[in-house]
Amino acid sequence: MHLFGNGSTKQAPEEVEHLQRELLHHAQVTYAHPRPSFNTSVMYEATAQTVRDRLVERWLKTEEHYTKTNAKRIYYLSLEYLVGRSLLNAILNLRLKGEYSEALKALGYHLEETVEEERDAGLGNGGLGRLASCFLDSMATLSIPSVGYGIRYKYGIFEQLIQDNKQIERPDYWLSKGNPWEIERLDVVYPVRFYGHVVTHHQDGKTLFKWEGGEVVQAVAYDTPIPGFGTVNTNTMRLWSARPLEEFGLGEFNEGHYAQAVEARVRAEAISSVLYPNDNHDAGKELRLKQQYFFVSATLQDIMKRYKASGDAISKFDTKVAVQLNDTHPTIAIPELMRLFLDEEGMSWDAAWDITTRVFGYTNHTILPEALEKWSVPLMQKLLPRHLEIIYEINHRHLQVVEGKWKNDTEKLIKMSIIEEGNTKAVRMAILATVGSHAINGVAEIHSGLVKTSLFPEFVELSPQKFQNKTNGVTPRRWILQANPGLSKIITKAVETEDWVLNLDLLQRMKHLAGNKTLQHDFQAAKSANKAKLAALIKSRCGVEVSEKALFDVQIKRIHEYKRQLLNILSLIYRYQCIKRASPADRAKFVKRVAIFAGKAAPGYYLAKRIIQLINAVGARVNNDPDVGDTLKVVFIPNYSVSLAEVIIPANDISQHISTAGMEASGTSNMKFVMNGGLIVGTMDGANIEIANACGRENMFVFGATAEEVGGLRHALKHKGEDLIDERLLQVYHSIEAGDFGPYEEFEPILYSLREGRDYYLLAHDWPSYLDAQEMVDQIFVDESEWTRRCITSTSMMGVFSSDRTIAEYAKDIWNVKSAPVPSDAKHQ
Ligand SMILES: *Cc1c(COP(=O)(O)O)cnc(C)c1O
Repeated sequence: MHLFGNGSTKQAPEEVEHLQRELLHHAQVTYAHPRPSFNTSVMYEATAQTVRDRLVERWLKTEEHYTKTNAKRIYYLSLEYLVGRSLLNAILNLRLKGEYSEALKALGYHLEETVEEERDAGLGNGGLGRLASCFLDSMATLSIPSVGYGIRYKYGIFEQLIQDNKQIERPDYWLSKGNPWEIERLDVVYPVRFYGHVVTHHQDGKTLFKWEGGEVVQAVAYDTPIPGFGTVNTNTMRLWSARPLEEFGLGEFNEGHYAQAVEARVRAEAISSVLYPNDNHDAGKELRLKQQYFFVSATLQDIMKRYKASGDAISKFDTKVAVQLNDTHPTIAIPELMRLFLDEEGMSWDAAWDITTRVFGYTNHTILPEALEKWSVPLMQKLLPRHLEIIYEINHRHLQVVEGKWKNDTEKLIKMSIIEEGNTKAVRMAILATVGSHAINGVAEIHSGLVKTSLFPEFVELSPQKFQNKTNGVTPRRWILQANPGLSKIITKAVETEDWVLNLDLLQRMKHLAGNKTLQHDFQAAKSANKAKLAALIKSRCGVEVSEKALFDVQIKRIHEYKRQLLNILSLIYRYQCIKRASPADRAKFVKRVAIFAGKAAPGYYLAKRIIQLINAVGARVNNDPDVGDTLKVVFIPNYSVSLAEVIIPANDISQHISTAGMEASGTSNMKFVMNGGLIVGTMDGANIEIANACGRENMFVFGATAEEVGGLRHALKHKGEDLIDERLLQVYHSIEAGDFGPYEEFEPILYSLREGRDYYLLAHDWPSYLDAQEMVDQIFVDESEWTRRCITSTSMMGVFSSDRTIAEYAKDIWNVKSAPVPSDAKHQ
């Protein structure tokens, strides 16, 4: 059995031959291609089918096992899954990489090229969606019975092109060539109602409520098997697609009804049509609320049906069901479950509320005010009238508790109410989620602290036991084993076992070898190979030639003011000025650097799009300046995605995670980068703090204000004039104003955001210490052995950032759910 089976090791010949026959069968029979017309695309389809066959077999066994043992299940509700590609991930989790490499090779194909035929499933914006996908991988690997529920968007995150230095968006019709991983379940279909009205009637002295009328659409399930690594357990990601209640009857094909019938169809399908492209921003659109309720309603009907099939009493619901809300997006599930208990099951309020709060856990992902969801009461009244009634009742009872604790404190009532009063009343979803859950968690220690101190201090006083921290993690299967096979082999050799893939703490065995020359040499060689691969990608996507000997400096993530790509590009302009000013002899002394950017801006985020334009404009100037040559290159790689991340991250020397302190909840790419043997330039924010603690602060290039200082600094800034701003930063402003990177009008809004005391993200304040940190990077990088020692030390301490650890904590502290491995005698390879 070969964990990584790099293709050079001989695999069992029968197995490989069998696989070859299956591949030929699928290519010829399933896809109807005569052999002469085979190509890599056909081989991808055929390969995916053979993998799918294996997954489905395990998947059925898993479901049978969970049902037979009536295991408690965790339902992860997320409006986003940033899946990426699935083929290689599945092959690795099945531990069949060697077999597949050989079978394909015998047919004249390379596994590495074949897997590239797959299109990314980009059903998410950034970290939140990718976290959901890492969690599904870890839950399957830990054999935890779980279903990830979401929406099968027809259009994923838009495709980004760069034209004239600017971002252009194109729709991502990711299903155009089909999707071999999904299984359409025409038998798993639920009605979902919108609009309508509530009728009441009286029976046995009780008032009963019924939601009627309005518009009903159908939710159809599409299942994707999620294989665990080293376990038979194969869980489910179930995504809902919307369609009209009935196909319009042929009888309605007359003039009068035809247009209406088509409109109804279009309205239904619109619900699962497009992923909203906002990261950390709430746009408050009606269609978005429809998406939320659509997927929540179908999901809870599905959960209820599965629960009832077990035969357990409804009063025991919470012993078999745990629901985790990935941010507030699915929070309407709380009043929806109450509605099902009250109106459908005839339960009393107190019994229903008791079970509901035991079922739900809520993960907060941000405290940025612009990202906190609010739904206007009139909209909620129109779209979900019964839910609004229930929310009012929840709020009424909640405010009685508040009143009981703080007598005659109107301020507390206003602040803690689920309903925001004002010109337009609104439902505050984070408060609803907090009131309706037994556990609320932040996603890194600092963030969980800020949730308690700055977002919900009163709620902490009311129910301190609810508040927890669950520091994010990433799956080592995708982010080390799959993305970085070169490093994976070195790790296995150094820690003398392949088990690190399942127990990432084993990386610590490498720590004492950080100074070992052989390991350092191997480590550097793997890094060089990864840099060569990225250099080739940069050449082909950006047309820029970069030296693999240079320091690769990476900042890839959504473009956002708080993430401060602007700080990075301004410092690169400063670096450019220094190079230009230097004599040719002095220029040769600069540490060669390739600055690599990638990331999408929300299409409506004006300033973020200007920042992309500035980065590209600086690149155009610097990369074509003969005075600069290899000393500095600045590239923006278009269309950031999971697959692109898998190529860029293994090639990093440093990566930048430089948010204004207190603003990045956790970050997860910071973890991926250090796992892949790079060092961080970062602020004391999000998980950077815990990474610094784990790896040693001396192994990170830390700079900038701390979260505690930020508030005061913002206040002080109001009274600070331009004369106090660092001269080097002013020089950069002047260069932009002088039109060095194109007409100044294009970039004026950027400088405007920084000047006149408006520098909300504190770029000017952090600038000097940022330059110091970068200076330090250059100094250490030239000492190759010291640099590599720091990298190995850091990587060896990253075990705690495996999403396996995160999921084990959720399972124990929030879900009370146990692992349920499918017995290994049922194992089939
Ligand atoms: C990990 C990941 C993210 C999250 O990046 P941060 O730097 O933590 O914001 C976003 N997008 C993709 C494609 C990722 O893989």
